[in-house]
Amino acid sequence: MSKIESIGILTSGGDAPGMNAAIRAVTRAGIFAGFKVFGIYRGFKGLISDEIEEFSTQNVSNIIQRGGTILKTARCKEFQTPEGRQCAYDVLRRHGIDALVVIGGDGSLTGARIFANEFSFPIVGLPGTIDNDLYGTDSTIGYDTALNTIMECVDKIRDTATSHERLFFIEVMGRDAGFLALNGAIASGAEAAIIPEFSTQTDQLADLIDHGFRKSKNSSIVLVAESPLTGGAMGLAKRMEEEYPQYDVRVTILGHLQRGGSPSAFDRILASRMGAAAVDALLDDQRNVMIGIKNDEIVYVPFTKAIKNDKPINTELINTQRRLSI
Ligand code: ATP
Repeated sequence: MSKIESIGILTSGGDAPGMNAAIRAVTRAGIFAGFKVFGIYRGFKGLISDEIEEFSTQNVSNIIQRGGTILKTARCKEFQTPEGRQCAYDVLRRHGIDALVVIGGDGSLTGARIFANEFSFPIVGLPGTIDNDLYGTDSTIGYDTALNTIMECVDKIRDTATSHERLFFIEVMGRDAGFLALNGAIASGAEAAIIPEFSTQTDQLADLIDHGFRKSKNSSIVLVAESPLTGGAMGLAKRMEEEYPQYDVRVTILGHLQRGGSPSAFDRILASRMGAAAVDALLDDQRNVMIGIKNDEIVYVPFTKAIKNDKPINTELINTQRRLSI
């Protein structure tokens, strides 16, 4: 395998708090290892349009505490075509970049895998997504911060829900994964979590009414993952009003609030460890792997595993949430 001398870093897909800490870690660990490091702006889009700058250690000063990503992020249809990827490859060659670190979610790592195979190009991925839906890692960069944001928001809504004796459906992110909704519900003491993983097995709303609500409760909070499989908070609230008119129902959609804010200590440390591990992986001749964390140890997860496998929800969490909401 040829020796790597220059690496490029990009962030892609939805932004997540802690991406900046990851960019800082890859840059500094890369320079420490003797690499030239290039920041690539706006994900695969900026790669194709050559928005690239060489980074020194100063480029990543004072960013560990900032949410979002200094490299910006984007979604890019062109990268899904062979012509777009060829163009990206040509740009990398022109800059003499011989390896990439891609920070993003499932889609970004899918793109990275295809590109790496097509051009035999070394790529290491970092799981950067608030959804925590990548297989092979206990946590993704941004998940812990988003979970804390959800918890703080639910605490606030609880005050008004209790005062007015209302039932609130609070929608949180998680198109295909209920980690934010379920753990958000446990952390905030919500009465229920409606998640995509279980929507086909039970009528979750009926289940909720039968088991979750007791007449002695004068207010309730239900966290709903935004997935079409759950019906979303609006859909559930509408159904609730029709089927159970005795409840005074309200909806709050947390939306992009969940993506912003200064990363938690957990996410900063996770991103720092993973960023440094990405450089170690390249030095170690690892290719096409995502850096993961398992039982507090860094692991290398082949792209194919991280992307193709669904990360299962721990049923112990579901049981705990249900038992504690009686
Ligand atoms: P999030 O989890 O926050 O949504 P993500 O990384 O999954 O982040 P996507 O929008 O799914 O976000 O993907 C980001 C980008 O990755 C896409 O805009 C596209 O450029 C690239 N990508 C996704 N899927 C493919 C694919 N099949 N082939 C090539 N590139 C892809």
